[in-house]
Amino acid sequence: QRFTIGLTGGIGSGKTTVANLFGELGASLVDTDAIAHRLTASGGLAIAAIRERFGPGFIDAGGAMDRARMRSHVFGNAGARQELEAILHPLIRSETAREAEAATGDYVIFVVPLLVESGTWVGRTSRILVVDCEEEVQIERVMRRNGLQRSEVEAIMAAQASRFARLAVADDVVENNGDSAALLPRVQELHAAYLALARAA
Ligand code: ATP
Repeated sequence: QRFTIGLTGGIGSGKTTVANLFGELGASLVDTDAIAHRLTASGGLAIAAIRERFGPGFIDAGGAMDRARMRSHVFGNAGARQELEAILHPLIRSETAREAEAATGDYVIFVVPLLVESGTWVGRTSRILVVDCEEEVQIERVMRRNGLQRSEVEAIMAAQASRFARLAVADDVVENNGDSAALLPRVQELHAAYLALARAA
């Protein structure tokens, strides 16, 4: 059995930043958001089923899913959201498994923004690594990066699992309140531990 890590954290916590540091040290990264994007991009594996189920109005001129239209369609429409997830989730699962199989790194890190929310991930990886930071830090980062209002960031955060719920499932935590240089020693320490566990697995 392969040694695997599920990496998660709230919006703007620094998941991508932290994952990339592990990648530089030799871990293989499997980014579930990138996979979901690819599935719904032009030529993606989910396009035929989305057209079939939701109609051609949800496919743009370039052949990709019309993200803005789909987002507003499923917003507050649980049935439609479930139907979209019924199309996407099995494909995301098989694509992540395929990428993990093909990975050549020392171990595999699945980057899963909604790991705690989705339920199906907990228990499927050897360990869960949470990137954690103060909510105020998250808000400031996302306001700056995405040009959003404070209230918009707070609304996104309110729809995600709480910091507490994420920490409750964490085996390991990377605290990311400081500058990015401060991350490296902690990432190096965890990488050494993961290498040892991967070799024993
Ligand atoms: P999302 O879930 O929104 O995709 P994420 O958890 O992957 O976010 P990142 O994209 O890594 O987070 O970081 C969010 C933003 O904050 C980025 O603009 C990143 O450059 C910045 N950032 C992350 N960590 C730090 C840090 N320690 N110091 C300064 N800026 C940081």
